[in-house]
Amino acid sequence: MELTILGCMGGYPTKDVGTTAYLLTSEDFKLLIDAGSNALLSLEHHLDPLDLDAVILTHYHADHIADLGVLQYTFQLKEPAVGKSKKILPIYGHAESEFFRLLEMPGVSEGIAYAPEEMLELGPFRIHFLKTIHPVPCYALRIEEIATGKVFVFGADSAYLPAFVPFVKDADLFLADANLFNGNERHHAHMTAGEVGTIAEEAAVKQLILTHLPQKGELSVLLDQAKESAPSVSVTLAEKDRIITI
Ligand SMILES: [Zn+2]
Ligand SMILES: [Zn+2]
Repeated sequence: MELTILGCMGGYPTKDVGTTAYLLTSEDFKLLIDAGSNALLSLEHHLDPLDLDAVILTHYHADHIADLGVLQYTFQLKEPAVGKSKKILPIYGHAESEFFRLLEMPGVSEGIAYAPEEMLELGPFRIHFLKTIHPVPCYALRIEEIATGKVFVFGADSAYLPAFVPFVKDADLFLADANLFNGNERHHAHMTAGEVGTIAEEAAVKQLILTHLPQKGELSVLLDQAKESAPSVSVTLAEKDRIITI
């Protein structure tokens, strides 16, 4: 499977880089994970948004759903390419918020509630959920590509949570919210680079990518702090348009 980073800033977009949005593809299946600010414009550099097969949302903070409405309008208004027919976009989200109703748009998109305690089979993927520590209900996603057994974990937004260690165990890639520099440990909503690194090291993941990046401060320092806590893991920073083969 292949992960394309569409947006990786935490909270708000800046300098042409949007907030949380990732494209995960396997064979012909195209899944959009979160739809943050600038997601749609970034996505267009990689594919026709109408070719998406599904969307899954971790939570309903604006930096994760800012482009959801215009994505729905795209499905409503844009003509499909020649030879392709109009389809209804399935949008998966949890139902623990009044925002869930936004996912349903008659004739355009279908809102589907995932049951976080159950495994979700979605196209070529098996998805498990972990409730994170965040000011609103939010779920991390452990996504297994059924055909290969490869595992990608998206940590969504979360404060430090020991339950991440078993959840991300042996993952091929852990994409983690490292919004904070060291010195801000045990925050109520996000993790420090060191906390993320510690989880990655304990869980023996193969690769860690830091995301939900801060606008202020040196990202090379953030990277060094994570590396220091995860000496046996390959650690890099998320970057718009970067494509990672998992
Ligand atoms: Zn966020
Ligand atoms: Zn959030």
